[in-house]
Amino acid sequence: MPRPIVATLDLNALRHNLAQVRAAAPDALVWAVVKANAYGHGIERVLQALRGADGIALLDLAEAQLVRQLGWRGPILLLEGVFEARDLELCSRLSLWHVVHCQAQIDMLALHKTQQAHRIFLKLNTGMNRLGFAPQAFRTAWTRLNALPQVDEISLMSHFADADGDKGIAAAMAAFAQTTHDLSGQRSLCNSAAILRHAKDLNVRADWVRPGIALYGASPDFPAHSAADWGLQPVMSLNTQIIATQNLQPGDALGYGATFVAERAMRIGVAACGYADGYPRLAPTGTPVSVDGVRTRTLGRVSMDMLTVDLSDLPEAGLGSQVTLWGLPQSVRGGPGQPVSNVMAQAQGIPIDEVAHAAGTVGYELMCALAARVPVQIQE
Ligand SMILES: *Cc1c(COP(=O)(O)O)cnc(C)c1O
Repeated sequence: MPRPIVATLDLNALRHNLAQVRAAAPDALVWAVVKANAYGHGIERVLQALRGADGIALLDLAEAQLVRQLGWRGPILLLEGVFEARDLELCSRLSLWHVVHCQAQIDMLALHKTQQAHRIFLKLNTGMNRLGFAPQAFRTAWTRLNALPQVDEISLMSHFADADGDKGIAAAMAAFAQTTHDLSGQRSLCNSAAILRHAKDLNVRADWVRPGIALYGASPDFPAHSAADWGLQPVMSLNTQIIATQNLQPGDALGYGATFVAERAMRIGVAACGYADGYPRLAPTGTPVSVDGVRTRTLGRVSMDMLTVDLSDLPEAGLGSQVTLWGLPQSVRGGPGQPVSNVMAQAQGIPIDEVAHAAGTVGYELMCALAARVPVQIQE
């Protein structure tokens, strides 16, 4: 028998989350962001559930090629544009739309020989100071691109630095409006946080939105809002089993470094999941986990292949009990899983954002870090 760990992907949850995004940004076209192998879910596994999107956004050319191979004929946007001149040949061949964020990318385009003019998303830096042109340079870049025969339509985009936080988007919106007010072209600004928090404003949601994390059912602004607050359902669930139990006496230590010491007699369970599966090693004692659908906590340090959980209040739990690391409980013994629509099951779930928060990170990182050794099941 293989190790009992399994990641389950609920494609209906993905469709549901896409619908939630559409409801939050009515009439906007949707780029479904599938960079980083669909935030760790696997592009091949999830693309069919994203057929309802208007475009697919990513940043790896190999991933763009894969999306075309899988039969996606709609728009594909390279969020970081091209990295070297010959990438433009692939853009021409596969009809990829691409971001232009710096002068060097315009230079490459100007030298590119193509029959097919490219669709460009010109990026303005509105305070993130990562990619994009400063306002004055942006306008010069627009004029230069507009004169190139290699360029078809030019769309205008930016990326918010703090759509999920208190600083908000007002300054960025003002900079965008001021720089672009007299330029034609479609506009795109919003990531998940901006869609959920700010897209009631027509100018904010603009022509295209770019949701990533919301599609996968985690919150972009936890702990201010949970995924449930936003009406999102977890796509990825990570489940395993208890493979051993131990009884601790007062004073007994647990695991590497003896970071947890029992103050009273307790029963603990050893779950077959560790940091080599993608579970965060920095998750401290007290990180939420559920056993047979009942919430409990982790204890001590996470090891490579195992972690330990508190079974003191779970006398029925033992060998083979189901452990939910995040997402929803699901039979890992080959039985049918519980449907995501089952509200009770959802109540017993462990939001990935809670685990991430306990470990000092975000749900994004945990999803992306799901290890290749974890078998994945698709739930339709
Ligand atoms: C990753 C990314 C997004 C999606 O961000 P989420 O927070 O996951 O919604 C949108 N736009 C750009 C430019 C990105 O790089």
